[in-house]
Amino acid sequence: MTILFASDLDRTLIYSKNSRGQEVSVQDFAAVEWIDEKPTAFMTNRGLQLFQQITSSITFIPVTTRTAEQYNRITGLFHSVEKPKYAIVANGAVILEDGKPLTEWSDKVIAKMQQNRTSIEHVLPQLEAFTKNEFVLKVMQAESWFVYLIIDEQAFSVEEFEKLSQIFYEQGFTLSHQGRKVYIMPTCINKWTALQFMKERIAAKTVIAAGDSMLDFDMVINADHSFIPSHGEAIHKGGHLPPHVSITNQVGVLAGEEILKKVSNYLL
Ligand SMILES: [Mg+2]
Repeated sequence: MTILFASDLDRTLIYSKNSRGQEVSVQDFAAVEWIDEKPTAFMTNRGLQLFQQITSSITFIPVTTRTAEQYNRITGLFHSVEKPKYAIVANGAVILEDGKPLTEWSDKVIAKMQQNRTSIEHVLPQLEAFTKNEFVLKVMQAESWFVYLIIDEQAFSVEEFEKLSQIFYEQGFTLSHQGRKVYIMPTCINKWTALQFMKERIAAKTVIAAGDSMLDFDMVINADHSFIPSHGEAIHKGGHLPPHVSITNQVGVLAGEEILKKVSNYLL
């Protein structure tokens, strides 16, 4: 029986200085990403050890909103285990196989974006409703896939965000607020759709998933066993979560460790 462990990375397994929390002392952190030789993402040492144990015994697929280039910076995860054969990046728009995008997959996503009128050229004019808000500092593009905003968290208004989420949702976008970023994601660029494709491709029977944000929500709902860190945006989606979805007791980087502990217990 093939078990697949599919997990979001940022704020689920790996954490920036701002999101990792105060509970862990500096010497208990392992850096996993560096930008200009400066460490930018962390796990606990125990978390990294668990990650290495898990991924050397079952298939692991990272499922991240990072672009391929941003994903490739996380070299610290794969110092002592092989880099996974597959990675879902750009929130599901791109599937990497041995580091190269599967064009058969991305072509389908592009066709769907055109059909739904949710390509970047469609979203930019609609963004005016957003960019006039004072919390928007910068509009960024993730390759040709989607747009995200860098925001001033102090000036950010949750009410305004929810109002705009509803408007954009009706036009085919999912909005997600994660720290200093707000993602405006075409609903057809979806982690679960890409993961489903991979599940069939590798004939996995069981999927264990983990993720913190609204962009992970479909994936954690549709997997067989799932985890959401208790600091995660995804736990605020209305209604009850189904019983196969667990919320961690810990927050921050310790929630990441807790998820890995529970996945490794499941495998024993
Ligand atoms: Mg995340």
